[in-house]
Amino acid sequence: LATAPAALAVRDITVRFAGLTALDGVSFTVEAGSVHAVIGPNGAGKSTCFNVLSGVYRAAAGSVRLGTAELTGLAPHRIAALGVARTFQNLALPPHATVADSLLLGRHRLTRAGFLASGLRLPSAAREARRHLERVREIAEFIGLEKELERPAGALPYGQQKLVELGRALCMEPQVLLLDEPVAGMTADERQRTAAVVAGVRDSLGISIVLVEHDMGVVMRLADAVTVLDFGRRIAGGTPAEVQNDPAVVQAYLGA
Ligand code: ADP
Ligand code: MG
Repeated sequence: LATAPAALAVRDITVRFAGLTALDGVSFTVEAGSVHAVIGPNGAGKSTCFNVLSGVYRAAAGSVRLGTAELTGLAPHRIAALGVARTFQNLALPPHATVADSLLLGRHRLTRAGFLASGLRLPSAAREARRHLERVREIAEFIGLEKELERPAGALPYGQQKLVELGRALCMEPQVLLLDEPVAGMTADERQRTAAVVAGVRDSLGISIVLVEHDMGVVMRLADAVTVLDFGRRIAGGTPAEVQNDPAVVQAYLGA
């Protein structure tokens, strides 16, 4: 990474949809190099929060900063270029692309003149392409899919496809990775493996992670800090142990 790791500061974010306040003055800070989980019952505002952080939704009020960089109101590609990458709750891979090509897509924002389109005629373009391919190979190893590089991503088991998506986000060399339900729909083995990869993203790559996840086992195991949302409000925050025993959290999950 070219720059020192920075904290992601989310301040007083409010989002409204035609009469519904999906987020109501939500604040939290993702410390550099930590896993910060955002949890809460269905409809609490977790995906809306992600969509604000990644620039898909524009907040009616509030701000998002990565270190000194102001992200508030920027378009998704600008936010990605400033170092915030995301995966989606549902798979968003091109169905016929190989694993290698799917990962390479993540390199696109880092290319100078679009080496994918340049036909590799210039020596410098060829060198750049080689560098990107080397990085793709490293990241494939990191997610444990180096043997699958030439297979169509869509032909892999679901859990591995989700890892490809995670790998593609890593290929963007982010400072912050937004993971929306990374283990949803996975087998127990796949969950285990994915949780280990996510821990490695933090511990080996030093990337901060914002984690939206329903699997409380995964949250408790991975998260350094937790923010709890309910009906668009932040109702609790702290370490996994602290929020687990918070009466407001218990109440929100058991239902009123
Ligand atoms: P979560 O991810 O925690 O389940 P969401 O962020 O998806 O919750 O949704 C929060 C609230 O905002 C819900 O009441 C949902 O119906 C509403 N909502 C989310 N996205 C939209 C949208 N694009 N238009 C209208 N309402 C929305
Ligand atoms: Mg959601």
